[in-house]
Amino acid sequence: MRFVARKQKEGINVSDVHPLVEAGTLILGLTAIFIAIVLLLVFLIEVALYFVPVETEAELFADWLPEDLVTISPSDDRLHETQTLVDRLARHWADAPYLFRVEIDDSDAANAMALPGGLIVVTRGLLDEVQSENELAFVLGHELGHFRNRDHLRALGRGIVFSMFFAVITGNDVSGIGINVADITLRGFNREQESDADEFGLAIVYAEYGHVDEAWRLFERWEHEQERTPDLLSYLATHPYAGDRVEHLKFLAEREKWPGRGEITPLKW
Ligand SMILES: [Zn+2]
Repeated sequence: MRFVARKQKEGINVSDVHPLVEAGTLILGLTAIFIAIVLLLVFLIEVALYFVPVETEAELFADWLPEDLVTISPSDDRLHETQTLVDRLARHWADAPYLFRVEIDDSDAANAMALPGGLIVVTRGLLDEVQSENELAFVLGHELGHFRNRDHLRALGRGIVFSMFFAVITGNDVSGIGINVADITLRGFNREQESDADEFGLAIVYAEYGHVDEAWRLFERWEHEQERTPDLLSYLATHPYAGDRVEHLKFLAEREKWPGRGEITPLKW
């Protein structure tokens, strides 16, 4: 039998799809890949956190401090009193897996943050702003809420969560994990994390004092002073708008029937 080569069709290498449609498909495809990678990273953080139990985190970071922390004198009353207050509040969180440590950052910018291992950093600027123990208790209770949901680790960013994860599986220590207070103050939490932390904080304040009077008075003052910014900017950048927060806290107190009036405890310094 004789072999007869079939004749090639014309334009075999030319796509019959319009080039613009092809470009569009490419862009859509790349976007989809990008979204998939972001989702995968978010998922991997959850996996890493799952493999680093709270107890391990607490142990790893037991005497760790952020690199750029400027502490005030250890004999300062405010340090001792804030630590005592955190200890009192933490008793209302049954089986808290952390031994909470307080450090005061000698900065004018008012802020408070939850850091790995149960470290709570409060700035001197924040302590200058609070006018009663009840006001301070709510700010601290809110930070305890971030620990309970482990928001504090998610906020550190992927890099740190992964280094922590590898420190655990390779048995290295965590001293090489560089975390700066300055970086963390730039990373806020999302609305839901903030509102969950507020709810936990308010419940703790109620458990401690039997009422929630002055729990949000600090934010009521700030609501009218948002233009007095430089010192408040830091806290306000990482927390919801003071006015919205006051509304939400009032709503929670009403819903839970937590008394809004009660005896105010003065600061002990
Ligand atoms: Zn917060």
